[in-house]
Amino acid sequence: MAGGKTEVNDRCAVKLSKEQRKKVDEWMSERWTQRKCPDCGHSTWSIDMNIFEMREFLEGKINISGYGYLKPVLVLTCENCGHLKTFNAVKIGIVQAPFQDTNSEKEE
Ligand SMILES: [Zn+2]
Repeated sequence: MAGGKTEVNDRCAVKLSKEQRKKVDEWMSERWTQRKCPDCGHSTWSIDMNIFEMREFLEGKINISGYGYLKPVLVLTCENCGHLKTFNAVKIGIVQAPFQDTNSEKEE
C-alpha cells in the first residue's frame, strides 16, 4: 500500500500511520495554498486521522458487492465553524485506488 503500513482499528477503520501523516503534511505544505475557510475565513483546521470514503450515488440503493465505485478521502474540519473539507486520499498518495478509476474525466 502506498505511504507505508496502514493501521486498522477494531472497527476496521483505516487510520493514518505516522508515515502517511508525514506524507499528508508534505503534500499540504506543497499544494494546499489557500487555507482560509470558505465559510468563516479562519484558517485553523483539524485533520481526522481516519480515512473516509465517498460512495457513488445509486439512486437510493446500496451496493453490498464490494465492487462499487468509491473515493477514499482525507477529512479536515474548520475549528471555528465546523466546515468540512475533503481531499482525495489517492491524489495525496496515502492510499491506492481500490478500483481502476475509469470514471474520472480531466477538465483543463
Ligand atoms: Zn470555518
